[in-house]
Amino acid sequence: MEGTLTARDKVGVQDFVLLDAHTSESAFMDNLRKRFSENLIYTYIGTLLVSVNPYQELGIYTMRQMELYQGVNFFELPPHVYAIADNAYRMMCSELNNHFILISGESGAGKTEASKKILQYFAVTCPMTESLQIARDRLLLSNPVLEAFGNARTPRNDNSSRFGKYMDIQFDFQGVPVGGHIISYLIEKSRVVHQNQGERNFHIFYQLLAGSEADHLAYLGLERDPQLYKYLSQDHCAKESSVNDKNDWKTVSDAFSVIDFTEADLQNLFGIIASVLHLGNIRFQEDDQGCATIPDTHEIKWIAKVVCPLTLELSVYARDAMAKAVYGRTFTWLVNKINSSLVNKDFTQKTVIGLLDIYGFEVFDKNGFEQFCINYCNEKLQQLLIERTLKAEQAEYETEGIEWEPIQYFNNKIICDLVEERHKGIISILDEECIRPGPATDLSFLEKLEEKVGKHAHFQTRKLAGPKGQKRIGWMEFRLFHYAGEVTYCTKGFLEKNNDLLYRHLKEALCGCQNSILRECFLAAELENHRRPPTVGTQFKNSLSSLLEILISKEPSYIRCIKPNDRKEPSEFDDFLVRHQIKYLGLMEHLRVRRAGFAYQRKYEHFLQRYKSLCPDTWPHWPGPPGEGVERLIKYIGYKPEEYKLGKFINGFINRHQPLSPNNEEFLV
Ligand code: ADP
Ligand code: MG
Repeated sequence: MEGTLTARDKVGVQDFVLLDAHTSESAFMDNLRKRFSENLIYTYIGTLLVSVNPYQELGIYTMRQMELYQGVNFFELPPHVYAIADNAYRMMCSELNNHFILISGESGAGKTEASKKILQYFAVTCPMTESLQIARDRLLLSNPVLEAFGNARTPRNDNSSRFGKYMDIQFDFQGVPVGGHIISYLIEKSRVVHQNQGERNFHIFYQLLAGSEADHLAYLGLERDPQLYKYLSQDHCAKESSVNDKNDWKTVSDAFSVIDFTEADLQNLFGIIASVLHLGNIRFQEDDQGCATIPDTHEIKWIAKVVCPLTLELSVYARDAMAKAVYGRTFTWLVNKINSSLVNKDFTQKTVIGLLDIYGFEVFDKNGFEQFCINYCNEKLQQLLIERTLKAEQAEYETEGIEWEPIQYFNNKIICDLVEERHKGIISILDEECIRPGPATDLSFLEKLEEKVGKHAHFQTRKLAGPKGQKRIGWMEFRLFHYAGEVTYCTKGFLEKNNDLLYRHLKEALCGCQNSILRECFLAAELENHRRPPTVGTQFKNSLSSLLEILISKEPSYIRCIKPNDRKEPSEFDDFLVRHQIKYLGLMEHLRVRRAGFAYQRKYEHFLQRYKSLCPDTWPHWPGPPGEGVERLIKYIGYKPEEYKLGKFINGFINRHQPLSPNNEEFLV
């Protein structure tokens, strides 16, 4: 019909692989923009899901939608996060192997929301027995609790995750979710004592003050107004947040009762939260000898008696270090406690789907040690994605003897090495400065960097001024050229945060304390151990490397989240911002590999097992080598020679990009 828009003109294509001008970035952008303007936030690149944050409720997460996606062939329905979840689940059930879903994208792009949707999908659609309902509820309710203690408002996101989270959902052999396990990564402790303009402390502090009963607050010696607490009043935005602290308190309190927390646990836990607030309000004065004294002991009454033969500056430092240590370890305790309620000892034969929702790439006006760690983590995950998709897939074609035109891509391994290489990388240089005798400072660290990695192509310091027009690097700063863009880091605080030391007498006080949570967190054995604990940077590096080991052993699915604008606005699609993300997420390269490659690839064994019933020769049992069985089967069901390739060894590749029903966008429009 001339003059009218076809469905395709209006809503674009649901798989980028189907674009005619498939290699052009502007065609990619057009398609994404077109779909976004029709509230179609999901698009595939093969089996990878691209998701654009709508910043509004779209009504696409209803029960009906969940039922729709259950057990349906991946390409039969419009792209959806449920399709990714369902696909991983069905593959796990049929092949009895482990999977993970990696959700990436910058801060505020929608990672945490996506991971919650997936968890809900499993909770609703998986088979369930009455006795296992509690396991399901605990899995679901661990979320609001961890978010209360681990999320905070930042300029990028009102509910920004300030810790990394990997969660295994465990299933029994019938596909019933029976339990789970959570690993948390590097909670941003510095937020407890300091927040930048427009940011808040962790939600739980405000929730406790806003939602708790008056007599509970009185018992903890707290007032309702957050402005009265130094740790909560630096940001001037404690009140005007879009977050509803009072309602959230109710949600969190209810969740606590389901995940096995006793009254005593909660009393101890909130005792700690309250004492952190009191700690922040301790003021020091200098006496004649230059030592700090505490003029008003009102706050001390609520914590413990602290004697500080320290200078004023060191006392403030010690106070804040104590608050950070207490909060950080309490968070770890919380994760362990939740884990013990998710354990299910009755089931030994389990497969898992892991959900990885980790802090996204961050660039602020001021970037410190935290951003350095977060961005390093994103480099590692990008590296995993490159290894598992772009590199592995192409290598696979080569080994299997399939003809192939190689596709170029940027491999960020060089940046990972710059950060983590033993003896030579930035973390090692930082560690050396932290342990070397003599006066090491954030400045001497910077000088060491200049000396050792100054010439690296992805590194710059002030001595190497950038090209004209580039922002000048200031005193005490260095710049890294990350895969996702350049970030300038200020070295101020790097040594202290990497060392993360606590004065011995404070540790002693904490080890001997009445609060049973703190007694578990600060064990006396620690005082006797004179060996230096690994630095924060090294610990983080090690935990990331174990994370990658966990992931490498599993079958991947990927969700790439995109932030459409910087203002948290619905319906606003900022071309510049989106184009940048498409670039650094490597989506074009991914599309090229997908487009030139094969949409579906399976081991002969698995393929045969799954589809053998379609061909009389292979049903019920194929006696020969699986590869030959697959060939027989595929010919029998009428695949054309250009639609598939058979590898030399273990894999068959099917090349059917077309979804089964091209007009199926009708479900949504
Ligand atoms: P990230 O974890 O990537 O930093 P979040 O998942 O916390 O980002 O998303 C930030 C905010 O964006 C959410 O609080 C929510 O308001 C909005 N948002 C994200 N995804 C969706 C979605 N699918 N539907 C509606 N709103 C969303
Ligand atoms: Mg998040």
